[in-house]
Amino acid sequence: MSTGNEAEAILIVGAGLAGVSAAESVRRAGFDGRVILAGDEPDAPYDRPPLSKSVLRNPEALSNLELRDPGFYAENGIEVKLASTAELIDRSSRRVHFSDGTTVLYKKLVLTTGSTLRILPILPPGMPSVFYLRRLSDALALREALPQTRRMMIVGAGVIGLEVAATARALGIAVTVLEAAATPMARAMCPNLCDFILRQHTDHGVHIRTNTTIVNVHRFGAGYRVTLSDGDTVDTDAIVVGIGVVPNIGLAEAAGLAVSANGIHVDEFGQTSDENVYAAGEVAFHYNHRVGHMDRQENWLHAAAHGEHVGRTLVAGGSGYNEICGYWSDQFDFSIQSFGTPKGDRDVVRGTVESGSFTIFHLVGDVVKGVSSINAARDMRTGKALVRDGARIPEAVLSDPTIDLGKWRQSALTSPAE
Ligand code: FAD
Ligand code: NDP
Repeated sequence: MSTGNEAEAILIVGAGLAGVSAAESVRRAGFDGRVILAGDEPDAPYDRPPLSKSVLRNPEALSNLELRDPGFYAENGIEVKLASTAELIDRSSRRVHFSDGTTVLYKKLVLTTGSTLRILPILPPGMPSVFYLRRLSDALALREALPQTRRMMIVGAGVIGLEVAATARALGIAVTVLEAAATPMARAMCPNLCDFILRQHTDHGVHIRTNTTIVNVHRFGAGYRVTLSDGDTVDTDAIVVGIGVVPNIGLAEAAGLAVSANGIHVDEFGQTSDENVYAAGEVAFHYNHRVGHMDRQENWLHAAAHGEHVGRTLVAGGSGYNEICGYWSDQFDFSIQSFGTPKGDRDVVRGTVESGSFTIFHLVGDVVKGVSSINAARDMRTGKALVRDGARIPEAVLSDPTIDLGKWRQSALTSPAE
């Protein structure tokens, strides 16, 4: 069955943040043909960050989850097709076949299929009291189990693992976190920040076991007895697995588009190896002028910015992708923010780590390429501006909290170029 009358349609497959941003921007850029946003989930497009934070604690958080107001799609002439998995792209006839039996003909196709969870083979999804966290349904299942959980094991001390650990501790649950690497969050943070996070979790009673993985697990009472790589056994009521994600490239790969384990390969405009097919957001291995190389990012800022960029430029043209990305995370009573590169050749601390409120500038050569902070919103704002400027500010100035960085930035901007 064909939905008919689509010859000029822009079809977006994947109704997450990048897909919604792309749909909105093709309209803003003046495209007046059909825009179809298709996704395999049954829920109206929603935001993922609250799933590992407020949704686990606060039932009211569910009412604020949708990415756009319910009227937004109709007002902007965006047709939303939910619970529809795109199963096949026929590039020669420019048609996508969906699991519900429909076929959509496109003029341009944008793939925003995001990522899927990396699975631990010993703990497949669906095992009783084993939880993964990517979708709303995952978060609701975990939330339902929390009141009955006295002991929780978390596999992976990445962002999901540590955000869930903080929530579980706040509910009085005894938490053990296993991390294969030598430090938590090593991929996304500089050593100073990793140390701070580790100490905070330990001080709040989370037992983080680094350089440790699961080697065996069997049912024990209503929960599990887990054997660890160091030979210890730990009993637990529930297990949460957060060991990373892999990009959803299957649809693109089957269609013969250029892909690799890094994602769907696209240029600076999000165009794939087929001129009528684009990809954006977490699934796209893209060129970013800011970083000067191919890149894949797993954060909210990038999904929003890249979806917007690809939608806009495919309709109206313009310059290539040139964005600085970053992320935030909330754990216990501290708020982590990071913008630009999360680690430098040198990492300069402003303030004292012990105070629980500090900023770290990440220098590459003598240029401020990134900034991270804990509970330091004001310095973070100035820090972001310094990163955008590519500022060169002496380390002694960056590290001195008595010096107003905003004034330094102004004088650096107004002083004549050498
Ligand atoms: P996705 O959100 O993965 O959306 C892709 C959509 O496409 C999904 O709905 C998927 O089901 C659908 N799809 C896939 N294949 C098909 C198909 N064949 N047919 C139809 N539909 C398909 N980032 C931060 O910066 N800060 C945070 O605090 C933060 N917290 C997070 C908490 C959680 C629990 C999670 C999971 C992520 C968090 N992130 C955070 C990351 C951020 O949410 C993601 O980077 C962002 O959602 C990626 O958006 P996307 O649209 O590219 O992909
Ligand atoms: P991450 O990649 O952040 O972290 C996974 C962690 O698990 C890594 O430290 C990894 O180590 C470790 N690991 C991998 N395999 C094992 C194993 N077998 N045993 C023990 N540890 C293991 O992924 P998450 O699952 O935390 O998050 C998934 C996605 O959700 C990411 O895209 C993330 O950006 C997003 N997200 C973002 C949030 C935020 O920005 N605040 C919050 C929540 C989710 P190694 O790196 O050495 O493989």
